[in-house]
Amino acid sequence: MRRPKRLPVCGLCGAAFSASLAHTDDHIIPKGFYSQPKPKNLMTWWVCLPCQRELNPREERLRNIFISAHSHKPGLFKDVAEKASRSARWEAPLRSGWFRSQTGIQVPGAISMPDPIDVTMVFGKITRGLFYFKHERLLGDVPLIARVLRPEHFDVLVDLVTELPVKIDVMGEEFEWAAVCPDENPDHGIWVYVIYGAVAIAVWTGDFITLGPFPVPEPTPVVITDSIRKSRPR
Ligand SMILES: [Zn+2]
Repeated sequence: MRRPKRLPVCGLCGAAFSASLAHTDDHIIPKGFYSQPKPKNLMTWWVCLPCQRELNPREERLRNIFISAHSHKPGLFKDVAEKASRSARWEAPLRSGWFRSQTGIQVPGAISMPDPIDVTMVFGKITRGLFYFKHERLLGDVPLIARVLRPEHFDVLVDLVTELPVKIDVMGEEFEWAAVCPDENPDHGIWVYVIYGAVAIAVWTGDFITLGPFPVPEPTPVVITDSIRKSRPR
């Protein structure tokens, strides 16, 4: 995607940049999500420093949970898993047992609940940034909510995305996304993300929160493998 013109305001809070409010280049898809070598031309936009500082620890906490999620390709993102194992930002797993992973198989592990505010802020940021690249303007002043999807929710959304002429964008094996938004009014829609081929997240904007084809579910935990957490230094 071609980068649109830089805006003189923060992409997140809308504050105008000035001598007292610096802008900073922010990776729309957090660069900490990626393994080495990182894809070239990761998308960036301008946000203010306070907004970026607010997001950084939230991105790291989510990355740590998502990289620990049960995956069909556990060896694929080893260096991200190692980074996560060294990170101090962890949510305590709720309990251990057998669970149905997001990719739909029964696995032994633990469940970990990502902070719903982290999910909405980080995936809200990603959605706003991708919207800016796609539509060359900022998302309008509409409500936004993000959720990790349960396997059965994910199946419904995949059906929706495959029924519609929606493009699935693959940005490295770490990150895939698709936007279901009417062209005439793209401020209202559903954005679907798949991280590490293991965790699916959806973001609802505007009227789709209440009127869309798929209602916003309650916050849900992620089924994680215990191995990364156990490898952490104590
Ligand atoms: Zn800001």
